[in-house]
Amino acid sequence: MPLRITNTLSGKKEDFVPLRAGEASLYTCGPTVYGLTHIGNARPPVFFDVVRRFLKVSGFKTTWVMNFTDVDDKIINRAREEKTTSDAIAQKFTQAYLEDLASLGVQLPDKQPKVTQYIPQIIQLVERLVANNAAYVAENGEVFFSVRGFAKYGQLSNKKIDDLLAGVRIAADEKKRDPLDFSLWKPRKTEDEPSWDSPWGKGRPGWHIECSAMAVSILGETFDIHGGGLDLVHPHHENEIAQSEAATGKIFARYWMHNNLISMDREKMSKSLGNIFLTRDFIAKYTAEALRYLLLSVHYRSPAEYSKTHVREVQAALHRVYSAKARAQAWAETTQTASLPEIPEEKTLAELGAGFEKGWFEAMSDDFNTPKALAFVFDYVRAANAYFDKKGLKPSVRTVQLAQEFLAKIDGFSQTLNLFGSDAQAYLGQLRLTVLQDRGIDPATIDAALAARQKARAEKNFAEADALRLKLSQQGIEIKDTPRGTEWDVAFTVSNP
Ligand SMILES: [Zn+2]
Repeated sequence: MPLRITNTLSGKKEDFVPLRAGEASLYTCGPTVYGLTHIGNARPPVFFDVVRRFLKVSGFKTTWVMNFTDVDDKIINRAREEKTTSDAIAQKFTQAYLEDLASLGVQLPDKQPKVTQYIPQIIQLVERLVANNAAYVAENGEVFFSVRGFAKYGQLSNKKIDDLLAGVRIAADEKKRDPLDFSLWKPRKTEDEPSWDSPWGKGRPGWHIECSAMAVSILGETFDIHGGGLDLVHPHHENEIAQSEAATGKIFARYWMHNNLISMDREKMSKSLGNIFLTRDFIAKYTAEALRYLLLSVHYRSPAEYSKTHVREVQAALHRVYSAKARAQAWAETTQTASLPEIPEEKTLAELGAGFEKGWFEAMSDDFNTPKALAFVFDYVRAANAYFDKKGLKPSVRTVQLAQEFLAKIDGFSQTLNLFGSDAQAYLGQLRLTVLQDRGIDPATIDAALAARQKARAEKNFAEADALRLKLSQQGIEIKDTPRGTEWDVAFTVSNP
């Protein structure tokens, strides 16, 4: 089954046929480094990390380029506020961004160019555009791209030039020949802002031109996939196409992929979750895997939701998978010699295991359908939990085999989405703590309640013991008496305050 990608350019799902057989080139628009990222900013790197991983799994030698915008008005303004240099701000937040990616489990892009490292290439590209009459130089040294000169303008966002014009606030900018024209090179306004010498005087690049210059310099005038958030389609990506193609006369990116955004009601959120917008705060509170899961459990072209209820669903889902892994692990490590007749639960588990790889691989090949791929995991996990947790299960050689196979297959899957790959016991421990914290329960009170229940049972005060169990259960804590002693776990079926 060929890989299929919804191409924003055609609005259709197309077979992915790369420019060079067996290779795939990917460019995504990176951050403007002037502050810490919030969870909405985490969606593109997490998703395109999965795209890159899956391209590799599908056999493509893949190069992923993501840029850093390290010169921009927002950076300059922050530097002024903090009485420091634009460079210092950019360095600080580039570092912070890389830290966030690392904790999110994103394998870093192969190339991470910065605008300030590509000034000569940017100037060359602007010169080419001026030479081609696609751009013009205003009296003050500002260089503009002439939008009406590019016949295909609007093809990505499906907008007609005249409709765009209606949407532009016509603030009189006499330097522009047309209100739609955008800046390629900006003259320096003040002495303290970063600037470079150019044929048009001291200045710096406009925002759009940097991506064209970096993508063309690193991946070539034509490359395979350009990605980014849906909010970048117009004007940023539309402008990237216009500049690049007006300069080279060639198709710029062949496939355009856009991830949808995260919907969050900031007011409602701050009330319910206490302002957890920053990527690092979310990770500290709920684990990085919870954020990856939240982002990948929805198809990339649909909006992802961030609400308290949704976070609980995410925790419950992770709990289900890791519980199955923990159960399988316990069985996989045992030695069983009995050879018993197959029971229905074993048949179901073996059948789901047999179709597992094909199922999730096909789902991923169909426009990176991560929720569908995850559905295969959950069918398999449900069967594993039903079997390994079966009351009175008589283990056999088959039990051990099924457990080992389950673990190996989940591990194989985890390479692509980077989910469910952690050690089960360690992750469940971490998850329990985050859930208790979220519900405002001190773990010490659980231990105390368990000890009190133990004492009541020893004194044959079963009414007291039952009352303690009920109290824990109302807090969403489930207890289980096992041959190893009393164990507790968090439950997700109870609705908790
Ligand atoms: Zn860009």
